[in-house]
Amino acid sequence: MNIKKVLIVEDEADIRELIEYNLRKQGYSTESSRDGLDALGKIRKGGIGLILLDLMLPGMDGLELCRLIKSGKDTAGIPVIMLTARSEEIDKVLGLELGADDYVTKPFSPRELMARVKAVLRRYTPVSGTEPGLISAGKLVIDPDRYSVMKDGKSVELSAMEFKLLLYLAQRPGKVMSRDFLLDAVWGDESYVEPRTVDVHVRRLREKIEDDPSNPEYILTKRGIGYYFTREAGGKKG
Ligand code: CA
Repeated sequence: MNIKKVLIVEDEADIRELIEYNLRKQGYSTESSRDGLDALGKIRKGGIGLILLDLMLPGMDGLELCRLIKSGKDTAGIPVIMLTARSEEIDKVLGLELGADDYVTKPFSPRELMARVKAVLRRYTPVSGTEPGLISAGKLVIDPDRYSVMKDGKSVELSAMEFKLLLYLAQRPGKVMSRDFLLDAVWGDESYVEPRTVDVHVRRLREKIEDDPSNPEYILTKRGIGYYFTREAGGKKG
C-alpha cells in the first residue's frame, strides 16, 4: 500500500483544491471525491493511505462514510482525519462508534492540516527494531501478551486496570481520548465508575512510568478534552 496517497473527500472545490495543492507540495499523491459514494468506490479499490473527510457532504454525509470505513474489514485500518466546522461534533467523530483518528476544524490553515496529516501517518508507521507485538516508547516497553511493562529494563508493577488503560492509550498513540470515551472503552460495563476514575488511574500510572509525574512524557493531557499517549518521549532523552 502506498502510505502516501491521500484521498480528499470534500464537495467544496476551492477547499479541495487548496488541500490538494498543499499535499502535493509536501510530496503526497492525492485523489479526490466530491461525495461519499464516489469516495467509497475509490477506498475499496485500495491504495489509499489516509482519508481527509469533510463532515458535510451531499448525499451520504461524512459521519456515515466514516462509520462505513471504520466498520469495514478491509478499510478499518485506514486513518481518517475529519474536517468539521462544528466543534460540538468532535466527541462523536472521535468516539467509539465512528473512530476517526483526528479532526481539524474549519477554517484551518494549510500548515495545521499538513501537521495533522504527518502526525497521523507517523502514528500508523510501525516502530522498527521491536519484537512484534511489543510496544516501545522512550524507555518503556509494553508487552500485551505478558501483561508486563518494563522501564529501562526494570519491571513496573501495575494494577490490572492501570495496565489496561496504559495499553489502550499506547496502542493509539497521538489519539486524544476523553474521559467518557476511555471509561466506555477500558472500563466497559463496570457500573459506578465516574469520569474522575480515569484521572485517578492516569495519576497513578504517571507516578509509576514517568520520570517526573508532574511533567509527563508518555501520557499527556489535552486540556479540556482528555488524554493521549506519545511515543516520542524517547526523542527527548538526548
Ligand atoms: Ca462540505
